[in-house]
Amino acid sequence: MLQLQHISKAYAQTRVLQNVNFEVAQGEIVCLLGPSGCGKSTLLRIIAGLESQDGGQVRLNGEPIDPVPTHLRGFGFMFQDFALFPHRTVAQNVAFGLRMQHLSAHEIDERVASQLRLVGLDAAKYGSRAIDQLSGGERQRVALARSLAPQPRLLMLDEPLGSLDRALREQLTDELHELIKRLGLTALYVTHDQAEAFALADRIVLMNSGQVAQIGTPAQLYRQPASLFVARFLGLNNVIAGRVLGHAHGFVQVETVLGVIEVAADFTPLPALGAAVQLVIRPEAACPCDTVQAQNVLIAEVTQRSFRGATQRIQVRHASGQMLTLDWAATALPNPLRFCLRPDAMSVM
Ligand code: ADP
Ligand code: MG
Repeated sequence: MLQLQHISKAYAQTRVLQNVNFEVAQGEIVCLLGPSGCGKSTLLRIIAGLESQDGGQVRLNGEPIDPVPTHLRGFGFMFQDFALFPHRTVAQNVAFGLRMQHLSAHEIDERVASQLRLVGLDAAKYGSRAIDQLSGGERQRVALARSLAPQPRLLMLDEPLGSLDRALREQLTDELHELIKRLGLTALYVTHDQAEAFALADRIVLMNSGQVAQIGTPAQLYRQPASLFVARFLGLNNVIAGRVLGHAHGFVQVETVLGVIEVAADFTPLPALGAAVQLVIRPEAACPCDTVQAQNVLIAEVTQRSFRGATQRIQVRHASGQMLTLDWAATALPNPLRFCLRPDAMSVM
């Protein structure tokens, strides 16, 4: 549906976007994820037509949209700084985008009521309230209703939940996902929050300093990060240098300071024999040794533990000095700890 081809942008001498390429399919939720300042909002403004790129093209169903002004693109926006009109009522805010669509007053009233219902607000109760009489969460619901009311073909959201506390953010993330899918909308959602992107996205475009670092489903990024940047950004901090010793029986053997570690060879391309690689050990890789055939058995000293509910997050130090951060689900936590690393919870890059 939406295609970005070789988009680049600089402000003065600073390159903000470099050769950004990706597509958003009809009905898909794509999350633009990356640290603050990596160019996410600039990219969204370019797609919206609020900013022009220096190079490359934005296409909609194959057609360049550069000549089309913002208000004719049929896109809906929900920007964190794209504030509601504070002195107008909830209904007036939601009706804002409808006035340009030549609807009758009656049609507008009906649409406002149905949009408010959609975001979980009762029009009879909320319609005539002023924006400053709403909680933060209610404001975000009104902002969402306003951006959905004109029935946009593409919904763009820029950190829409950024100002809310965590519990509310998680709840609204789930509701937003359910709503976007129920309406069959196509959405481009910007966030710096990995958990939010994981919860919402069909696919994630992870950006670093104006460039695309990796594109894939949340599971693909998590299970097979393509670079140290991606691994670290997703909170995968157990990254250890190694060398490929061999491939056999569905495993890749990697020589590391922890000894030879066997990793499930469920990815392609497999690294060449002798290749220098980075081994990524996900926190959930650790398990008591009796649950798998003794493979990747390690002994390490537990140096820290913190309660996480179903698991404990532990830090361990291997005899080599290598530290690992792991999730430990078993109740018993002997120290030193003998544990196994599940081959399917590790990858190499
Ligand atoms: P993000 O949304 O990922 O946090 P932005 O797209 O807002 O990042 O900004 C990317 C970079 O571009 C930042 O370094 C920012 O300071 C710079 N930038 C954004 N807008 C402008 C502007 N209008 N003029 C100059 N620099 C800008
Ligand atoms: Mg931004």
